[in-house]
Amino acid sequence: MTASLPVGVFETDTDFRLLAANDAFRDLALGGGPVVQGTAPWSHAVPHVRTECERAWLAHSGDPASFTCEFPVPSPDGSTVWVRLNSAARLDGGRIIGWVGSAVDVTPVVEQSSLSDQLVGLLDVSGDAVVVFDRVGSLTFANDTARSLLGVDPTRTVADDIAARTYMQAVRDQLPRFMLETGAAATNRWEGEIAFRSPDGLPRTLTVIVQVVRESDGTVHHWATIARDITEERQARAELDRLATHDALTGLPNRVLFLRKTTEALERAGTTGANVAVLFIDLDKLKHVNDTIGHAVGDQLIVSIARRLASATRPSDTVARISGDEFVVLCEGVLDEHVALDVAERVRTSITGQVVLQGIEIETGASIGVALATDDLLTGRSAADAAVTLLHAADTAMYKAKQRGRGRSELYSEQMRAAARERVQLSAELERALAGGELDLVYQPIELAHAGRVSAVEAFLRWNHPVRGQLSPASFLELADESGLIGPIGDWVLDRACRDIGAWAAAGLVDPAVSLHVNVSRRQLADTSFVDRTVATLRANGMDGARLVCETGEATLVDANPAILRTVNALKRAGVRIAVDDFGSGYSSLASLRTFPADILKIDGTLVRDVGRVDGGDDPMVRSIIQLAHSLELSVCAEWVTSDDQLQRLRVLGCDLVQGNRIGAAATADEFARRMGVRRSGEVPSGPGN
Ligand code: GH3
Ligand code: MG
Repeated sequence: MTASLPVGVFETDTDFRLLAANDAFRDLALGGGPVVQGTAPWSHAVPHVRTECERAWLAHSGDPASFTCEFPVPSPDGSTVWVRLNSAARLDGGRIIGWVGSAVDVTPVVEQSSLSDQLVGLLDVSGDAVVVFDRVGSLTFANDTARSLLGVDPTRTVADDIAARTYMQAVRDQLPRFMLETGAAATNRWEGEIAFRSPDGLPRTLTVIVQVVRESDGTVHHWATIARDITEERQARAELDRLATHDALTGLPNRVLFLRKTTEALERAGTTGANVAVLFIDLDKLKHVNDTIGHAVGDQLIVSIARRLASATRPSDTVARISGDEFVVLCEGVLDEHVALDVAERVRTSITGQVVLQGIEIETGASIGVALATDDLLTGRSAADAAVTLLHAADTAMYKAKQRGRGRSELYSEQMRAAARERVQLSAELERALAGGELDLVYQPIELAHAGRVSAVEAFLRWNHPVRGQLSPASFLELADESGLIGPIGDWVLDRACRDIGAWAAAGLVDPAVSLHVNVSRRQLADTSFVDRTVATLRANGMDGARLVCETGEATLVDANPAILRTVNALKRAGVRIAVDDFGSGYSSLASLRTFPADILKIDGTLVRDVGRVDGGDDPMVRSIIQLAHSLELSVCAEWVTSDDQLQRLRVLGCDLVQGNRIGAAATADEFARRMGVRRSGEVPSGPGN
């Protein structure tokens, strides 16, 4: 034994128990300690490994072939040293008489291989497919994901592994040429997408990173590829894209996509000069279908209209649904306005008529606005802005079609633009008017026809416009209704009127029980908070609900939807009465009177005009309305009473209430108070204009 040998050497007996060892062995395997006779060379190994070595020796003993084993030994600094023993039997005439062996430190090799094991383990749990090919295309490594995703099998030869060949070919097809060439490539890395048919036969999209590892002479040593399946991600993104650009109910493009397509069309028109037209289609009276037959049928109707629109237009046109019952069509290559209007009429005809849904026959109709991309409209704008402007212009024309009675097509004109601008301006001014005290009320008395006593006062809104002078509600209430300003305006009217009436009653100018009539729109009645706000205002002014009468137009009666009926019934529960205004002016549906819980019918002034004419031309309409109303236990009020003859005749016909200049013209609060004071003092009897 040589004590200074760098390799550990040892000698054992036939049972592989130590007899002697050099210093290197003792340092390596025994922690620098002495050789204890009768112990095994692995006596300093960690306990469970000692047992394994012992087992391996027992399995080997008796066999003169060399015996090898490996074991870790904890070293004093806390690290672990891996020792490999290699021993050969000492023979004497074929009989084993002992063993001599060497021991080497194999720590770096063991650590390296365990790191490789860990890396392979990591690769196996990775969701990416890792595949390595050698220079001739044989698979040298594939992790678990590669086996399942690509179907490759490293145990097969490349000739047998169709999946590996398919994958490699798919990658090669996409690789830039220089990656395939021998020689110094600028980069050995490529990242891109490949289409791949997976083992289950489904087309897949993979993102792949390819790394070429070359020899020093530039020839390929091996290829490593990492592939990730992005098929689902792609599909999800495509679906999200579709949802963001399409309408869920009809599957048609939505506003976003429509504007994008219009922008593109305008950009093309810039180069080709082809005319671009937009049709803006709004279904007529869809709410009525929703309210009377149900929202689900309304939806079906929208879907069926969408189909008809698609078949009434050319495949190159874009049909989109941009909101509720609004559809738009983009047409390119439209020669002029006449052609555009022809297209609109054809489209309108295709969606006008009857549809049978769930066994119910539904009348359909639409109003269409048409706008052409003219220089006037679009000069100085980007294509994207021009698209918005064009859509807006078509919307403006559609609005005009609605105003002109629905069921028609209108071409956008400059006047419309001016009118639309004016509406926008007036709308903004109205907002300021409410805050700035430009709104005011005038009052008109309502008398009991027989007693000649003021039983109620109707409040009318006026707008003292700083430039346009005094404006009547007809000129701005529709705007207020559309913009939603009608809500706060209505609140203001009620509060102000309650205060005025309270003051007059306190001053003894009117009967403390006098009622207040205010006008409310359909929109106000459809507002779910209207009742609460109204009751709160009455309470704040110490007024009982029974003293308020809400007047609403005849159209409300005919078109009363569930929301409106809910409000009306809640008002009635609060004691408030309901009057139907201008009854007989156009829409009259006597049948609706049976279901609409009105208290008072106000006969439209145009019918009252002929009452009591000297030529004896009587008034069958007025008479029948009064009779009908009474049979339904409604009071009747005649408006626009201007003469004694009318008043007399209305009394004879049994009319309950009268209103008009004969009774008292509308007057400002101060003037009204003055007149009431005059009446009360009995100086002058009531008369026209007093
Ligand atoms: P107009 O003749 O003035 O167009 O009256 P309209 O009843 O069609 O009402 P408008 O165009 O002002 O409003 C559209 C209505 O369409 C509002 C709503 O009741 C209904 N609506 C909007 N979106 C949907 C929808 O997705 N499904 C259904 N069933 N109805 C809708
Ligand atoms: Mg509509």
